[in-house]
Amino acid sequence: MLTIVRIIFDIFLYLFLCLLLILFFVIKVDCQENLSNFNKPKPLVQYPVTGKTPFPMMTQSELNKVNEALTLAKELTKECSCDKALQDYGIESLSILLQSEANVSIFDGRRSTLGLPWINGNGERETVSSYFTKNQDWLWAGVIQTPFTGRGNILFLNNYFFSPNKAVTSALQQRAIILIHESVHQHANKDDKYFGGSQRLTMLITDACLPSLKMR
Ligand SMILES: [Zn+2]
Repeated sequence: MLTIVRIIFDIFLYLFLCLLLILFFVIKVDCQENLSNFNKPKPLVQYPVTGKTPFPMMTQSELNKVNEALTLAKELTKECSCDKALQDYGIESLSILLQSEANVSIFDGRRSTLGLPWINGNGERETVSSYFTKNQDWLWAGVIQTPFTGRGNILFLNNYFFSPNKAVTSALQQRAIILIHESVHQHANKDDKYFGGSQRLTMLITDACLPSLKMR
């Protein structure tokens, strides 16, 4: 009788130990999963951050200014010396880079609520508009890359493009040079640094395309 009781006791002890073992593994796996969740990067911001008017259309005189400048830029790059201005930098033709159209891939940056990938000094997301306003003295236009627009590399124009305060009589020519300059960023994916800075890129284009024009 005592033996039977002992056997039953042993079986229960065995089952209890098994249960403990199972619980140990379950808790361990659970902890590991929690730990791996903890190590995962926090959810990233989903771009584009559009706001109300990410791609403000241009109308009337502003649209005319862009279209006239595009026409002149295309005329200028028909000349071989202008077209090949950046040949030494691996860009065989500037004319084929002039693919953008107003209100399709060129917009008014002064009113754009498109979010840029950083937070400004006020703890708010920088937008094209806020950044352009702050930097309008030197920032005439800018290309925002596809990951932040969701619709390809987009050219945004700043105040100087529409109202150049330097050498107003050559406004149209300056706009054409700005569009050629920006087309290099937009469609050849080369930044200013690649050419030794923004002013140098402008100079390379101006010297070949409109040597009489004085840009900054
Ligand atoms: Zn540039």
